Amino acid sequence: MADKSIQKELVERFCRYVKVETTSDENVKDRCPTTDGQLKLINLIADELKALGVKDVSVDKNGYLRAFIPGNTVRKKVFGFISHADTSPEVSGRNVKPVIHKKYDGKPIKLADGILLSPAEYPLLSQYKGKTIITSDGRTLLGADDKAGIAEIVTAASYFMVHPEIRRNSMEIFITPDEEIGQGTDHFPLSSIKSNYLYTVDGDTEGCIESECFNAYSAKLSIKGVSIHPGSGKGKLVNASLLGARFLSMLPSDQMPETTEGREGFFCPVSISGTIEQCQVTLILRDFDASGMERRISIVEQAAETLKKSYPAAEFELEFVHSYSNMKEYIDKNKKCLSYLEKAVEKTGIKPVHKLIRGGTDGSRLSELGHPCPNIFTGGQNFHGKLEWAAVPAMERTVQVIINLVCTGISQ
Ligand SMILES: [Zn+2]
Repeated sequence: MADKSIQKELVERFCRYVKVETTSDENVKDRCPTTDGQLKLINLIADELKALGVKDVSVDKNGYLRAFIPGNTVRKKVFGFISHADTSPEVSGRNVKPVIHKKYDGKPIKLADGILLSPAEYPLLSQYKGKTIITSDGRTLLGADDKAGIAEIVTAASYFMVHPEIRRNSMEIFITPDEEIGQGTDHFPLSSIKSNYLYTVDGDTEGCIESECFNAYSAKLSIKGVSIHPGSGKGKLVNASLLGARFLSMLPSDQMPETTEGREGFFCPVSISGTIEQCQVTLILRDFDASGMERRISIVEQAAETLKKSYPAAEFELEFVHSYSNMKEYIDKNKKCLSYLEKAVEKTGIKPVHKLIRGGTDGSRLSELGHPCPNIFTGGQNFHGKLEWAAVPAMERTVQVIINLVCTGISQ
């Protein structure tokens, strides 16, 4: 496949997409997508797919794009791919100016305002010396997360439309809004999914596939103290804020995000607010293992229980909310989903590298809802920042992985 025209098409497409401002907005509560730019991009992609000859393309009222390219063999399966159209609100996505570095010379790249993207700090850059990479101009993020994924999916679709002689399974495409603000699956058109095997195309380093993420809970402790004039508080006043602080100090400090990595889980206090009379503490709990998560929940319960016994005049209310589960549990039940992906990567000539996601993805939610959904690399790096960049050879490989997946089990 790896011909020059595909590379050109892929780069042009990617640069076209990143120029559309699609920053999502977590403060917007009453509509989906939360910003108009996302809809603009999603409609642009729908038009492109139609122009390529894809007949079954639709954008629903919440801005979810679905497209379907029927297979041309008997006993065909459906392979589905998901990318998100929005970019992170953490850094501006307005007026993105992609800079294409052809035959990258391997030296530090000077961006706007003296920002330096250097191989000393980001050694992966050196791997692409002599190749084409794309950065922003340093004033905005690039938007490879996840427009690289979209460009790769659409380029693979284009390949199948231009080459109807290639025997393939069916290909399904979903482009979703508002992933970066955690709402990517809120209105997902679940009933329209036809895919037997579904993948998000939202990872980073070339060759990496992700099929394991955290189990995630949040915990909220509400404390009611006893407020009395401090001048006459002896033996009577119970300070809720102080109890909130004591509660946090009872959690193991060597199991926090700042002290853990790899497969280690953590407790992370995310907010504490209060007065003498009342205090609210919120924390998030993360663990790759379900049993580890149970242990974390019981540590939090015990800490609250200990305080309760020591301060009978105070009232405590502890509440846990489940956020998402490790998708591995679900992917293990549909092992083909992952083994097909491994084979599709191997077929491009490299060994797949399994990476843990120390967070969650839209795929974790979809896995729980019955659609096991590993994550494929996109070739993008340094997401959510001005130093974001993408390696074009890696992006081309993702296109090839998608094509290989759609052709799974079919000899040409
Ligand atoms: Zn993403």
